[in-house]
Amino acid sequence: MEMLAKPDLILLHAPSVYDFRKLPILFGPISDLVPSTPIFEMYPIGFSSIAEHLERNGIQVRIINLALRMLKDKNFEVEKLIAKLHPRAFGIDLHWLPHAHGSLEVAALCKKRHPDTPVIFGGYSATYFHEELIRYPQVDFVVRGDSGEEPLRQLLHTLKKGTSPETVPNLTWKDAQGQVRVNALVHVVDTLDEYSNNYPNLFRSAMKYLDLKSLTPIHDWWEYPITAVMTCRGCTHNCVICGGSRYALSGFCSRESCAYRSSKKVGQDILSLASYTNAPIFVVGDLRQAGEAYAHEVLSRVRPVRPKNQIVLELFTPAPESYFREVAEALPHFNFEISPESHDEKVRRASGKFYTNEAMEESIRFALDHGCSKLDVFFMIGLPQQAPDSVMKTIDYCEHLIKTFGRRLNPFISPLAPFLDPGSIAFEKAGEVGYRVFFKTLEDYRQALLAPSWKYTLSYETKWMTRDEIVESSYQAGLRLNRLKERFGLLEGETAYNTEQRILLAREMIRRVDEIILLDEPQRREKLMGLKETFDRASMSTVCDKEEIKWPVWRWRLNIPNIARALFARKPA
Ligand code: SF4
Repeated sequence: MEMLAKPDLILLHAPSVYDFRKLPILFGPISDLVPSTPIFEMYPIGFSSIAEHLERNGIQVRIINLALRMLKDKNFEVEKLIAKLHPRAFGIDLHWLPHAHGSLEVAALCKKRHPDTPVIFGGYSATYFHEELIRYPQVDFVVRGDSGEEPLRQLLHTLKKGTSPETVPNLTWKDAQGQVRVNALVHVVDTLDEYSNNYPNLFRSAMKYLDLKSLTPIHDWWEYPITAVMTCRGCTHNCVICGGSRYALSGFCSRESCAYRSSKKVGQDILSLASYTNAPIFVVGDLRQAGEAYAHEVLSRVRPVRPKNQIVLELFTPAPESYFREVAEALPHFNFEISPESHDEKVRRASGKFYTNEAMEESIRFALDHGCSKLDVFFMIGLPQQAPDSVMKTIDYCEHLIKTFGRRLNPFISPLAPFLDPGSIAFEKAGEVGYRVFFKTLEDYRQALLAPSWKYTLSYETKWMTRDEIVESSYQAGLRLNRLKERFGLLEGETAYNTEQRILLAREMIRRVDEIILLDEPQRREKLMGLKETFDRASMSTVCDKEEIKWPVWRWRLNIPNIARALFARKPA
C-alpha cells in the first residue's frame, strides 16, 4: 500500500543520474569516502529538519528516497509510484551538484503525471543556479539559501490559500505570465535551536505512511544505523575547494556568520540519539568552531552519561591536549577525523588550511594517548599547487604516519570529483588559484553526468595536473595506499586484494572508454553497453573498501523500546 495518510508535501530524493540502472557509466572513486554509493542515494539531512518544522506547523510531509528504492530494486518503477502520489506540492533536493541530472528527470516525471502540482527545488546547487533552474519547464519554485524550512512553510501556506508568493522570502518563481521573479534572500537563520534532525519524527512518518523503505537514508542503514548531530550551518573557514566555506555561503546564501545549535541542544541531541541507537553518532562540524567554552559545555552535558556509542568528532585545526582530555572524560569511545588535504604544507596553505604537519602530528599524538579509537586522516587529489609527484609523496607521508602512530590511524586519499563546488573560491576565482573550470551552466553539469567515464565528467583541471593526470594519480595513489595498509596490518589480505583488483579494473576501463569514445555513435553505444556490468563493479568503492570508513556498532543496533516511547510521546522528542 503506497498511501495511507495524505501528505501536503512530498520530498523526493533522486539518484545522481536518473537512468543509472540502464546507462553504461564508469562513475569512478567519487563516493568512496562517503557512506553513499556513486548515485549518492543518501538524502540531505535538511529533509528531516524541513519535515520536522513543517509538521510542527500543521503541514504533513512525506519523504521518499527514490534513489534508494531504485538501487534496491531493479524493477522499481518511479513513474508508476509518482502517478499514485497526490500531494499539494512536490519538493526535490538539488543540494549536491551531482544530482543535476536525476533531480530534473524526477521533476519532469512529476510534471508529466501531475501538471497542476507545483514542483519546488531547494539546496545549495539549486540556490546557486536558481535563475537557470527556474527556466526548466518542470520547475515552479526554487527556495534559496541554507535556511529553507520557514520560507518553504510560507510557500506551502500561499499554495493552500491560492495567494501570490511575492512576500515569501528567498523564493525564485514564475508569475502567471511566466516571468521569472526573484524575491530577496533575507531569511538566514542565526541559530539552529529551532530546527533539528529529529529521528523520532522520521520513525513516526514511517508509521504514518507504512513505508519504511522510502525513508531509509542509505543502502545499508538498517545494518549500520549511523546518525548525525548538526552543530552549525556555515563555516568559519575558507578552504579553497569548499562550497560550504565562509566565502561561498556569503556569496550565494547571504550567510555572513555561522548559525550554531546551542551547546545545550547539541549535548541533548547526542544523548537522545544514544538512547535510540547503539550505532556511531557523527557530530558534524568541529565543536571548537564556536569557541573553547562551547566545546566545553557540550562535553560537560554528555559527561555524566558517558554514552557507549562510537562518537565521531571533526577536527578542523589542531587542538591542545586539554581538549582531548576533556573529550576522553565525556566519551568512552571517541574518534576523530582531520583533513590536512596534502602532506605538503605549501599545497595545504594554497588550499586554505594553515597548520603545520608538526602541529597536526602533535594533536594526533594527544588524541591517541587519550584513547581515541580511530583517527581518520583525509588527503585529496586535485588541489592548487599539487603536481602528480606531490600526490605520491603524500603516500610516503601516510607511511610515516602509520609507522609513527600505529593502526588506530587510518589515512585515506581520493580525488576531488566529479565537480568543483560552485561558489567555492576555486570555482569563482579559478584563474587566480590555478584552476580551469570546463562547465559553467547547470545544463553543462546535467549533461556532463552522462559522460561514459568520470574522467569526462570531471569539471576541472589545474595548472599542475590535467584531467588525465588527476585520474591516473588517483588510481596510482589508491594502489600504493592500499598496499601500504595491507603491509602494516590495517587491511586484511583479502580486502586489500579485492580493492587492488577493482582499481586495476577501473584503470583498464578508463583506457577502454578513451578508445571507444573515438568510435562513431552506434558502435560506441554498443561497446559501452557491453561494458555496463563491468563499469558497475569497478565503480563501487574503487580506491578503498566502504568498511574502512565505518566505526564499530554494538550488537543491538537500535533500542526499540526507547524509540517506541519517543514515537508515542505526544510531542516530538
Ligand atoms: S572543508 Fe573547510 S571550509 Fe569546508 S566545511 Fe570543512 S573546514 Fe569549513
